[in-house]
Amino acid sequence: MNFTIDDDLRKRLDGIRELGRTQIRPLGLEADRAGKPVDPGHPFYALLLGLGLGRTRWLGGEESAEQKPAKKHGAGPSLTGVLLSEEMAYWDRGVAVSFPGPGLGEPPVLSMGTPEQKERFLARFREPDRPRWGSFAMTEPGAGSDVAAIRTSCKPDGDHWILDGEKSFAANASRADWIVVWATTDSSLGRGGHRAFVVERDTPGLGDFKIEKKMGLKAYESTSFTLRGCRVPAANLLGADAKRAGFKGALQSFNATRPMIGAMAVGIGRAALDEAASFARESGRGGDVRVRDRLERTRRKLRVARLLCWRAAWLADQQQPNMVEASMAKAHAPVAALEAAVLGMELLGEVGARGDHLIEKLFRDVKAMDIVEGTGQIQRIVIARRLVGLPRE
Ligand SMILES: Cc1cc2nc3c(=O)[nH]c(=O)nc-3n(C[C@H](O)[C@H](O)[C@H](O)COP(=O)(O)OP(=O)(O)OC[C@H]3O[C@@H](n4cnc5c(N)ncnc54)[C@H](O)[C@@H]3O)c2cc1C
Repeated sequence: MNFTIDDDLRKRLDGIRELGRTQIRPLGLEADRAGKPVDPGHPFYALLLGLGLGRTRWLGGEESAEQKPAKKHGAGPSLTGVLLSEEMAYWDRGVAVSFPGPGLGEPPVLSMGTPEQKERFLARFREPDRPRWGSFAMTEPGAGSDVAAIRTSCKPDGDHWILDGEKSFAANASRADWIVVWATTDSSLGRGGHRAFVVERDTPGLGDFKIEKKMGLKAYESTSFTLRGCRVPAANLLGADAKRAGFKGALQSFNATRPMIGAMAVGIGRAALDEAASFARESGRGGDVRVRDRLERTRRKLRVARLLCWRAAWLADQQQPNMVEASMAKAHAPVAALEAAVLGMELLGEVGARGDHLIEKLFRDVKAMDIVEGTGQIQRIVIARRLVGLPRE
């Protein structure tokens, strides 16, 4: 494995660090105190575009950054994404998810979309004229971990499909140009009935956007919405003629994004550990061997988590299967990060419990990392089935 960080990536990481200190962390704290997401018109987003962020990984034609041969030296696109994600989340994971760009909607378009669909949905993110977002909506009020239980229906109607149903917790949905919506042709078919559609913003029947209440990560919106007789052009069905259609496309997406979510958990955990360690130093508690032991153990677990994320991403860059490694990274990192936040809360005691210290916000932010993109239990099911030679459910 090669985890070399070349000069170019080092500069990008330094740039995120500076942006994190001056903009990302203060904006995250402000959104948390206000209890609402950063406004899509906030000048911060235009600033990000100026810095070359908020763009697609698609390079045009059939090519995405992932399909370029991995570099002999230096990090490939997945490892680069993991490294940058960790650094952004260190400063504020909520703000990081609010960054413009196609977001979680991008992997299914890349893995299942035709060249024409990539052109239609991703080209605008190559040199965006303004901050633009994409979104991904699988979850429903009655279907979270058990994605086979989605009830949003899709029925062909001439050269359109009619979508009906409800979606919840979709990141950046109300500000998105388009949302990748998962629906079913027949709920009795389970995952076999799944289809993914790119539903564009002003499509009649798409509406009732409502920003959900969350305990943490308040800087970005998690949004519920409805589809009522929503007529989507058949040309927006992803993977219509591909082998990777439907649920297989979703799995492909998760293998790309789970190491990134793991890395974001590591970022939050590192921030919590820094708060805990600096409090220990300043308060004199670092003289206590039990405190030092807990700090050391937590740091070691975060390092292990980071290596799992890097390995899963490195495999993706080599275009090798990484399902088990991606799940391991996703299963382990949020637990290590939660441990760091708990340690911080315990060490800071009443300073943390007052509710105005960063550690308390990190404690609220970190829990979602175990939930999104498949909970810890679900990752362990994936890993364990493979261990005894069972196919993925
Ligand atoms: C902050 C946040 C952002 C999100 N962003 C998005 C998004 O952008 N797009 C999107 O589509 N969704 C999003 N989600 C939804 C997320 O994917 C779901 O919350 C997640 O899949 C879990 O579903 P659930 O909450 O319905 O819990 P459930 O599936 O009801 O699970 C409840 C508990 O039961 C456990 N459990 C469930 N099944 C099993 C099993 N077979 N064996 C053992 N234990 C089990 C789970 O691990 C969990 O602890 C987001 C959620 C959050 C909190």
